[in-house]
Amino acid sequence: MLKRIFKLIILGAVSMVIVVMSFSAISTANISYIQASANIIESPVLIIDPGHGGEDGGAVSNSGVIESGINLDISLKMRDFCALFGISPVMTRNSETIDYPEDLTSLSSKKVYDQKSRVELINSYDNAVLVSIHQNIFPSSKPFGAQVLYSKNQGSSEFAENLQKLLVEKIDPENYRVAAQIQDTVYLMKNVNCPAILIECGFLSNPSDEAQLQDPGYQLKLAMTFASSYFSQFIFNQENYA
Ligand SMILES: [Zn+2]
Repeated sequence: MLKRIFKLIILGAVSMVIVVMSFSAISTANISYIQASANIIESPVLIIDPGHGGEDGGAVSNSGVIESGINLDISLKMRDFCALFGISPVMTRNSETIDYPEDLTSLSSKKVYDQKSRVELINSYDNAVLVSIHQNIFPSSKPFGAQVLYSKNQGSSEFAENLQKLLVEKIDPENYRVAAQIQDTVYLMKNVNCPAILIECGFLSNPSDEAQLQDPGYQLKLAMTFASSYFSQFIFNQENYA
């Protein structure tokens, strides 16, 4: 009889252990799910900076194509593509018009005001990542292809290198350019605090690049590639699910 009671006690204890173990397993799963969700919510805010704008058109091609308009077209496509995934990027500008204070009369003072305002906006976010969109130009018509430049801030070079790789793979396998650190003379890139890249999408001085860069289909392809790189680096990165 005693033996039977002892057996029942042991059986009960084992059952209790199994119940507790499965309950804690469920709780652990729930906790990691909650943590994963929290990390996704905490992903850095994407800030898209269409280079130049207002009275500063940036580079102008021989045929009169103005850089700022192409920068804006690609940036707006990137914003809209991100919106499909429920991501609303912050834009440093949404149109070609920039309102300057009335007392500023010279182009250089307006440019300084604009760049300082953008840096202030970008640095007002504690957790952000910056994608600044530009077009390149060169005295010779030979150079072509996109190049990603990065700031000295942590996380910038990895982002740039991954995107450069993606641009070669998905857009132009002939593109031999490599990601590089940007010069200290670019005010905006020097003064922002977050991971930051500046993409030179192509050369306005190269006729083939110039034609492609004005094509809405090509612009969308670029915009989707930039957005995919941001998603993989900052949103779907495995570390966010740890
Ligand atoms: Zn530019």
